[in-house]
Amino acid sequence: MATFYTDVISKDARFGSLTRVADPSLLEPGTRQLVERIITASQQMGIEVLIYETYRSQDRQQQLFNSGASKLRTVGVHHYGLACDIVRSVGGEPCWKGDFTFLGQLAQSSGLIWGGDWGAPQIKHSFIDSVHVQRCTVARQGDLFAGVWYPDQTYNPYNDVQHLFADTRKPAKAVAKTGRPPTRSQRA
Ligand SMILES: [Zn+2]
Repeated sequence: MATFYTDVISKDARFGSLTRVADPSLLEPGTRQLVERIITASQQMGIEVLIYETYRSQDRQQQLFNSGASKLRTVGVHHYGLACDIVRSVGGEPCWKGDFTFLGQLAQSSGLIWGGDWGAPQIKHSFIDSVHVQRCTVARQGDLFAGVWYPDQTYNPYNDVQHLFADTRKPAKAVAKTGRPPTRSQRA
C-alpha cells in the first residue's frame, strides 16, 4: 500500500532522527492542512502557538522511554505523519502551561482527534496529552501500525463512528470540557 508514510517518510533522511522534528513537511498533507488551519485559528483567537513536534522516529521514542520522558516504548501516530504536538508560544519558547481546551475545540471542528479527550470526552481517560492532535481514531491505530490502514484525503475520524466509539455504548456529543495541562511524561 503506497502512502505518505511509505513514499515520503520512510525515504526521508530524518527517518531515524534522534532529535526532535518540527517540520510540517513530514506531516501527511491532510494532517498538515488541518494543523495549519488550527494554528491560524489560534492566532485569530489571540493565542500564540507553535508546532513542537511532528514526525518522531522509533529510535527517538525509545530514547524518550529510556529517559522516562515518555511512558510509551513503541512509537505512536507521530511516526506516520498523522500526529502533531501544538504548544503555546511564550516569547518564542514552547510552553505547556495553561488551558488547552481551545486546542480541543479547534481540533474537533477541524476533524482531528485531540489528546485531551481522544475523541471521546464521555470517557475518563487515564492518559491525557492536551497538546497532541492526530488524524485517526485511537481504535484505528492498531491497523495503522500494522501497515494495513492509512487515511485517505477524505478521511475524517469523527465520521469513523464505529471506530470512534468502539469502547462506548452510548455515543455522547463530543464536547471538550477540560484541558488539564499535561506533564512532560505524557507524550503520545
Ligand atoms: Zn503527540
